[in-house]
Amino acid sequence: MAVETQDVRELVDFAPEGYLVTSFYLDVNADEFPAPEHVQKSLDSAMHHADEVRHRIESHLDHEATESIRGDLQKIQQFFDIESGPFKREDTNGVAIFSCSAQGFWEVYQTPTRLRSQVHFEPRPYVAPLATFLSHTKPTAILLTDREQARIFTMARGDVQEIHDLDDYVPHRTEQGGWSQNRYQRRSDHWAQHHIDRAAELVLKLEQRHGFDWLIIGTEPNKRHDVENALHPYVKDRLIGFIDVRIDAPEAEVIKEARQVREEVEQHLIDDLVHRIQEYAGAHGRAVMGLSETLEALNEQRVHILAVQAGFTNPGALCPHCGMLYADQTISTCPADNSPVERVDNVVDSAIQRALELGTQIEVATGQDKLEPIQCIGAILYYGVPGR
Ligand SMILES: [Zn+2]
Repeated sequence: MAVETQDVRELVDFAPEGYLVTSFYLDVNADEFPAPEHVQKSLDSAMHHADEVRHRIESHLDHEATESIRGDLQKIQQFFDIESGPFKREDTNGVAIFSCSAQGFWEVYQTPTRLRSQVHFEPRPYVAPLATFLSHTKPTAILLTDREQARIFTMARGDVQEIHDLDDYVPHRTEQGGWSQNRYQRRSDHWAQHHIDRAAELVLKLEQRHGFDWLIIGTEPNKRHDVENALHPYVKDRLIGFIDVRIDAPEAEVIKEARQVREEVEQHLIDDLVHRIQEYAGAHGRAVMGLSETLEALNEQRVHILAVQAGFTNPGALCPHCGMLYADQTISTCPADNSPVERVDNVVDSAIQRALELGTQIEVATGQDKLEPIQCIGAILYYGVPGR
């Protein structure tokens, strides 16, 4: 659940010299926008707003930078074109696009979670609204195995893939079932164990090839112990739970069960984090609770882990000069350098963005009122930094 995947890192670090990055979010949630025509309506209104913002800022930009953001908006328009655009709805409820035409930069994220339509033209991709989605996409591998067969899946960034091509260890789903006959001797007394070892090797190979943080295993309850023991220590540490599905279960069922396991583990981790924040904030000032204190710690770059409730919003202020964030919207100048501050509708997103830019670990709690005890936002601070 932490936002720490390599691709979001690379995304946040993209800062093209002399150009702005267009970050375009479109709400396409199926309840409100069920058909392509509805999506088009959502697009039209978001585009209208984007054009207004573009007009406002263009006078501050040179010709190339202006052309670049115009190109971005055109490309986004084409992406959603009903007739010829590549956009496919499937289970998507939100779309985020990051583009910088001048640099050939183009990234699309389609999320099963809803995203609020908005546009930003900024020096870097504005990724804060994606934090909830990203924090729930810890790359996870699923191994299904029975006595004869194995299947593996990967879940990352909301994508689910069944892996069929992991060189010669790939279990062939032949008519007889099982691994390819010529390589493995069936009916041997040791066959079952041999098969489990092969499956464990397959998982290690998958980790080396594709990388994953969490592993879920689906096997008969009485085989769980054997499979777990056969795992390489390196991947054994990543095992977060088991599911009970048949080897030939449809993909949707496998994913549903696996998501439930992930969900439970995430809830546990959040509970644990909340306890730690409460304990540390009281005792040694090694944690903070509430918006003001958390922003202050973030301004001072003392935040190790940022915890935030999904959907928590609060207006605030931002100093364009030094970048400091404030929960108090009534201030007109920055206490740090006396520059005039800008008001922001949601300083929480600004805080998430800042944390992502700083490479801070972020945990987004999606369970209702999970972070109520710490006033919806808080942080574990770096150890060894002098407190107040
Ligand atoms: Zn300032």
